Amino acid sequence: MHPDLLRLGSIVILAGLAGQLAGNVFIGLCAGLLVCLVWQHRMLRYISKFLRQGNAQSPPDTPGVINEITRQISSLRARNKQREQELRARLARFEEATEALPDAVVVMNADGQVDWANKKAAEYLGIAFPRDHGQRFSHLIRQPDLLDYFTVAGNGTAAKSLVICSPLNAETSLEIRIIRYAQSSLLLVAGNITEIRRANQMRKDFIANASHELRTPITVIAGYLEAVENETAELLPDWQPRIRQMRNQTRRMQNLIEDLLKLSRLESDPPAKLDNEVDITELLSAIQAEAQTLSAAHNHVFAPELQPRLHVKGDYDSLYSAFSNIVFNAVQYTPAGSEIHIKWYETNTGACLEVTDSGDGIPAEHIHRVTERFYRVDKGRSREKGGTGLGLAIARHVMVQHDAELSISSEPGQGTTVKCLIPEHRLVRTRPEPEDF
Ligand code: ADP
Repeated sequence: MHPDLLRLGSIVILAGLAGQLAGNVFIGLCAGLLVCLVWQHRMLRYISKFLRQGNAQSPPDTPGVINEITRQISSLRARNKQREQELRARLARFEEATEALPDAVVVMNADGQVDWANKKAAEYLGIAFPRDHGQRFSHLIRQPDLLDYFTVAGNGTAAKSLVICSPLNAETSLEIRIIRYAQSSLLLVAGNITEIRRANQMRKDFIANASHELRTPITVIAGYLEAVENETAELLPDWQPRIRQMRNQTRRMQNLIEDLLKLSRLESDPPAKLDNEVDITELLSAIQAEAQTLSAAHNHVFAPELQPRLHVKGDYDSLYSAFSNIVFNAVQYTPAGSEIHIKWYETNTGACLEVTDSGDGIPAEHIHRVTERFYRVDKGRSREKGGTGLGLAIARHVMVQHDAELSISSEPGQGTTVKCLIPEHRLVRTRPEPEDF
């Protein structure tokens, strides 16, 4: 039997016996039970006092089951204390690591209130912790771009990062990323990309300046070579193949310089205004006419299917350059006499230009690289066709500039399909002309 029961039983029995000696067993038993109740109540008060006193007190020395309870509570407290210390140490280590990051970090709750921020957040964004704890991000930041991005990221729809100038220093460029985690909390990370942007700008300026400086001498050489070819046709017939080769190489260099200049214009900051309404059907018809001249004796068959009332808000010259590179590639990499389909149609998300050829195609391992500058699947063949290796890089840049996407699919031996997917917000649908009815 449990000692507690034995003790309480003995008290009741002794009280009963005392009651019998005094002439009333019932009163004796009641007195015994009362003593037991008072004793139990005292024990419970011990426990209550022990719980109130917190960790500092060692458990009271009580008999029986109460002793077991207080000891278990005590060891539970010791374990919790140890766990708390471990968690504190881990949190301190995490905070130290985040402070050591070269990026600004701001943690926000579901309502966009600042929960925590590291020191770099004060330096880059002016958000200081604990000063701004509980403040709404939208009250601390004034830049409209960043506030728009914050709203989009809060809805979980921001895929890309945002590049802005620091609100505290216009010389500092920041790349901001806002990530949603744990359902609706937000983590903002701002990296300082000033040096990377400066180096990139230097590279762009160098290419633009070098191309610009080379343009005039090459034009002069090309002009003189043409004159020399005409003048010496009869006098120096042996020299004609060499002069023709020189002219071809000069033309290649001219194309290369023009493409490099186009690329650097596309990369220029700030980007060109893109609010002209461009009639894509008219633009594609002009490209087709040029492609037919390029095809010349190769007699490619063009099969256009163009939706006429679908215009695009953008830049005519850039779109011409992008679309013509795609169509000219189809001409250059497709055997004579084959069909080239040019389609311009509406989709669920906007509109699409689709150019399909039946040429050799592009092997799968090269597809993701052909939009890189100077990347060519077959260098010799591209050069022989007068390619610069910049056509698809220009097309991709123009698409990015117009919030559009370039997608390439190809089946070696079957042909290639290049699609330009223009988003809905860039489309302008014109009214049908009366004669269309
Ligand atoms: P290039 O001036 O060499 O044509 P591009 O940037 O336009 O440069 O294209 C890059 C490379 O992609 C080409 O060299 C070629 O190997 C490949 N390519 C592009 N379009 C096609 C196509 N329609 N069919 C087959 N290969 C293609």
